[in-house]
Amino acid sequence: MSTLHRRHLLAALSGLTALGLGGVDAWAKKPAPKSVKKPTPLPRPKLIFLDPGHGGKDPGAQGVRGTQEKAVVMAIARELQRELLAGNRYRVLLTRSTDNYVALRERVARAQEARADLFLSLHADACDNSDVRGASVYTLSEQASDREAAALAARENRADAVIAGMKLADKDDNVARTLVAMSQRGTVNDSRRLADTIVQTFGRNGIRLLPRTHRQAGFAVLTSPDIPAALVELGYLSNRQDEKLLTVRQHQIALARALRGSVDAHFAAGGAIRKA
Ligand SMILES: [Zn+2]
Repeated sequence: MSTLHRRHLLAALSGLTALGLGGVDAWAKKPAPKSVKKPTPLPRPKLIFLDPGHGGKDPGAQGVRGTQEKAVVMAIARELQRELLAGNRYRVLLTRSTDNYVALRERVARAQEARADLFLSLHADACDNSDVRGASVYTLSEQASDREAAALAARENRADAVIAGMKLADKDDNVARTLVAMSQRGTVNDSRRLADTIVQTFGRNGIRLLPRTHRQAGFAVLTSPDIPAALVELGYLSNRQDEKLLTVRQHQIALARALRGSVDAHFAAGGAIRKA
């Protein structure tokens, strides 16, 4: 189910108008001059939220030659922002635009508040084995997703929670639980589809991937209940070749293009599903 459909469904379920806008009704009642046709509103450009990992006091992983994760992921996020904006099809916001520290939950909150259509967190990995290299893609695991849904629906967390544009605070327990679970289930599926698309697009573009690349984990940054999200580890800073590549502009551009292609393909496929 697309994010948009989910929002409509959720809105309908909670007794709001399909778009959650009381204003639509008021507008419809006003007699419009017969000769003037209502302009068809242009579809809102999708809002892509890019999340360059770490920042400020948190440098992230450290490369063998001293490269800092927070710096390379910012360079690649900027490149991706340029790629996405170039086609005039998307709006793009970053969770951080300078070398500053932003808490993980705050990153999610910013995307929620802006009602992002997609959330992409960019990271670079490190591990003890310096031979390990390649990119990998993560989505929220089902256990983590269930935990989040339960936590969000819990009364004490409901005060500020807004899901699909609705405040959970004024919903009773069952409705809150149902809303969160429905939204999250659809989002998890959309996120998985996005991650698989990234893996395929990377593969097609000759970007090295880890075996069994699409993994599931409990990253806090992926916990938005109504925004499809994936976390991409773009390579290993603990591997000499990967570290070098991640700092080379040409490779940064290649990664950004592959990610932009993934975003395009994600929405193209979503559109096809909706029409079917
Ligand atoms: Zn990281």
